[in-house]
Amino acid sequence: MSPWRHHFPLLRARDAVAYLDNAATSQKPQVVLDAMHSHYREFNANVHRATHQLGADATEMFERARATVARHIGNRKPNEVVWTRGTTESINLVANCLVPSLGPERDIVVTTMEHHSNLVPWHMAAERTGATVRAVPLTASGELDMVALARNVSDRTCVVAVAHVSNVLGIVNPVRDIADITQAHGALLLVDGAQAVPHLCVDVTGLGCDFYAFSSHKAYGPTGTGVLWGREELLETLGPWQGGGEMIETVRLDGFTPQAPPYRFEAGTPHIAGAIGLGAALEFLESLDREEVLAYESRLTDLLRTRLDELGGVQLVGSATSNIPIVSFNLEGVHHSDIGTILDQQGVAVRTGHHCAQPLMTSLDLPGCVRASLSLYNDDSDVEKLVKGLGVARDLLL
Ligand code: PLP
Repeated sequence: MSPWRHHFPLLRARDAVAYLDNAATSQKPQVVLDAMHSHYREFNANVHRATHQLGADATEMFERARATVARHIGNRKPNEVVWTRGTTESINLVANCLVPSLGPERDIVVTTMEHHSNLVPWHMAAERTGATVRAVPLTASGELDMVALARNVSDRTCVVAVAHVSNVLGIVNPVRDIADITQAHGALLLVDGAQAVPHLCVDVTGLGCDFYAFSSHKAYGPTGTGVLWGREELLETLGPWQGGGEMIETVRLDGFTPQAPPYRFEAGTPHIAGAIGLGAALEFLESLDREEVLAYESRLTDLLRTRLDELGGVQLVGSATSNIPIVSFNLEGVHHSDIGTILDQQGVAVRTGHHCAQPLMTSLDLPGCVRASLSLYNDDSDVEKLVKGLGVARDLLL
């Protein structure tokens, strides 16, 4: 039994389910539910603009959550943390704000393994500006081809956008090395940390990136909230991307003056309870021994790989491995979506399909695959349920 499982009420209520779809979204610990509940019951008011005490209290809680995020990702300044709806919106924000720096002479470098959220915003920016999107392929073993990356990044490159952890392969990209190559050409580095923050201790300074994006809901926080971290001096050079209340210093009939970052990028009333919930989620993570959690997840991942190997007829997607508990595979002769349906009937929740990574699937010549993604609250019995379910699927379908 996982030592952390008891923190998650849903898992107590749905005890029979082996929830192995954590890369899609995680379950929420009691402290997150309590923090959000307490906001609505005791502190609910709009932030920043109120003259009353309730508004001041809500603002204090909201800004405290921003400070928690800043501390959590490497003791940075709170004004480098922009609230967004999630990783997708964070990347769209940067892609939109970089449009004035793009043009037919500029490149945007991405990788074949990116989630659509780290591809489509760049395609859209390229369509608007005539910039070229260049994609770095993977090696035969399914790792990022660093030689090809060094070849693709040049003085034409405006931005390199890369996942910290792949949502399909589970591998951890060498962000520090990528940052060195990127900086040598004066380009910016955006890291998609959606799958990293739930598992790794992230230090954006050590990584050497310029922007870091992640979603609350994959890291034990609520949906609808996310973060864009950006270097202070860089955020100051970028324009607003959405207009409205909150993001302005003054408004005239003939124009407006935007606020300083991060508020410049936060038009309209934010998801106040969401930010407070994320703050509580990160404090929950900080209350654990992260090394112990990673070792636990790593052991479960090894167990999963061993048990899949023993089952036979399982083709793992990518042969490179890491200690991140994301394992994708196919079962010989069986369609991935049929496996998902049969597993569901047996109380095992996995994800099947292209995992919002169609270019990766195309490069691997796969129509899709099954993904089992584990978390700190899973245990050996969840792995055994999955393997048993795969055996049943094979008996029924072959
Ligand atoms: N990037 C990666 C690597 C992801 O795995 C995901 C979601 O699965 C996203 C981006 C998009 O996250 P969201 O839908 O929370 O914006």
